[in-house]
Amino acid sequence: MQEEVLCYDMGGKRIRAAVATRGKLFPAVRAELPEKCRNAELSALAVELGREALRKARTSEKDLLGIGYGAAGEWEGLVIRFSPNNPVRENITAPRDVGKHFGLLRRTLGANDLKAAVHAVPVYGHGKGKRLDIVAAITYSDGNNIAILNRNQPYPGYGDLSQEVGHAHIEHGPSARWCGCGAQGCFEAYVSGTAAANMAVQALLANRTKLDEQPIFQIAKRRLAEKNEGTGPLAVEQILCGVRAEHVYEALADSGDPIAQWVCDTQKFYISQQLAHVCLHHRPQLIELFGGLTHQRKLLFEPAIAELSAHPARYSSENFQPPEIRVTDLGDDIGLYGAASMVFLAKEAGILK
Ligand SMILES: [Zn+2]
Repeated sequence: MQEEVLCYDMGGKRIRAAVATRGKLFPAVRAELPEKCRNAELSALAVELGREALRKARTSEKDLLGIGYGAAGEWEGLVIRFSPNNPVRENITAPRDVGKHFGLLRRTLGANDLKAAVHAVPVYGHGKGKRLDIVAAITYSDGNNIAILNRNQPYPGYGDLSQEVGHAHIEHGPSARWCGCGAQGCFEAYVSGTAAANMAVQALLANRTKLDEQPIFQIAKRRLAEKNEGTGPLAVEQILCGVRAEHVYEALADSGDPIAQWVCDTQKFYISQQLAHVCLHHRPQLIELFGGLTHQRKLLFEPAIAELSAHPARYSSENFQPPEIRVTDLGDDIGLYGAASMVFLAKEAGILK
């Protein structure tokens, strides 16, 4: 019975592979991408990882229904034309090459990592066993973006980089926060991990004379010192550049730090605003949230969802009921689950030849 899928999740630094059935994901294998990596080398690495994943699951390519490949970047067929942060500076053909290697080229599906991830929602996530038309997945990490399924298939008409809800403008005017995209007032400038660090640094700089007394500054200093052991004292600028979102959340949990509290309150407010926007624009029945920041489920996301739920008029209407909004239980494996789900859903839809 061909009920297993070989799935891949590739970022700018590492690549993971695993075998999945509809019910479970076998343990994943992983490799770091070499710093100077050519396309052929990456393809060979992907094939080797695939072999190892099959061994771990005690199966072989003969039992595979297909291969699913999720990776950051712009896709054209099974070729990744541009992948931010990936050391390979040419077209990446690993998805096509693993398909060929395992004799499953026509059963190999690939997509941008976010688009792949949303497929996990109806198969393994909170949409499992439910009949849903519109399902959305929103990622909160260094960036912030959305992918949507319409009856288990990607929304038609969307390119890989066009669902940029993170760069929808929510604030205007001189006080609107700057976003990494070069514009001001984007959601991403408020709700991402990068935004949390930037907001904290801004607040720290507002009172520079007492920096050493500030919990976020102290945590960042400690973490940097641990990393740079023996390289001498750290400059204030180095420490400020080393502030990360996790230091902010740690400071709030440790000491109820007022700066950390302000950052978290700001993030909760904009997360709730963004969820309301997504509801009004796309009318999903289920939204699943994932990404590194969702580890702060209790601190950020459950309060933001509760705040929204308390005001249903903000994001629903007579003919649109408020959707279920949940933080994923699939954790950092959602990319692998999603890559496998692309194949399972394509099979169900009769798309897989
Ligand atoms: Zn932006």
